[in-house]
Amino acid sequence: MNKLTMSFMLPLAMTAWEVIEGFNRLVNGHEKSIRGFVIPMNWNSPLHPEFSTTDNRRFSVNRVFCIAKNYEEHAKEMGGEVDRESPSFFQKSFDAVTFEPNVRYPTHTDDLHHEVELVVVVGRGGFNLSLEDAEAVVFGYAVGLDFTRRDRQTEAKAKGRPWEVAKNFDDSGAVGIVTPKTDIGLIHDAVITLEVNGEIRQSGDIKQMAYNVTELIAFLSTLQELKAGDLIYTGTPSGVGRVLRGDRLVGKIDGLVDLDICLV
Ligand code: MN
Repeated sequence: MNKLTMSFMLPLAMTAWEVIEGFNRLVNGHEKSIRGFVIPMNWNSPLHPEFSTTDNRRFSVNRVFCIAKNYEEHAKEMGGEVDRESPSFFQKSFDAVTFEPNVRYPTHTDDLHHEVELVVVVGRGGFNLSLEDAEAVVFGYAVGLDFTRRDRQTEAKAKGRPWEVAKNFDDSGAVGIVTPKTDIGLIHDAVITLEVNGEIRQSGDIKQMAYNVTELIAFLSTLQELKAGDLIYTGTPSGVGRVLRGDRLVGKIDGLVDLDICLV
């Protein structure tokens, strides 16, 4: 960011004269602080990661919403049930998402779990969307993995704490190449599987979701305005389990590009 741009970011409460004075000081390069407001001269904000599409376009990720317990069999294996009143969800940071073939095994866990999921990419925003509008804002789909520190999640549940530590960490969200809706249409049913070292661990069908894609988008859009680049992890079928460093994971959904990663 250049000095000219920064000068316009000074607090709005400053008088015009102070802004001009501050601008002059910045241009002269002598001051990094004006009235206690420290200008972050060497601040390198993390860049939002970019996903690729099957037609070789790139777009940046905005937010990452994840739905929990959206398949009945998975809800049961977790000792719970689908919440019929409203979907249960959490968020990952945008920079917790990775598109790399090597995924870093996290700290603070001895029980990292795989959750293979259909990831929906929102192509344009909207607040309080109808089901019809929700369908229209879908940009495309990818295969995703929602990695979970299951031991930390069990603790969090027992202590009534948030799931943050269990769900939101570096590389906790792996996402494959995105297939645009213009190529594949809307996905209502498709087989979804996960292989670990060549052995099928998870197997289900998108049509088993308690809340379908449009219902999830419509629901999320009532809580906040959805925006282009938002990703939605739509929940995992049953069969979740432990993975180890060195494991190769291949997630598949009919019609989409396989997600093929290695835990390192
Ligand atoms: Mn999940």
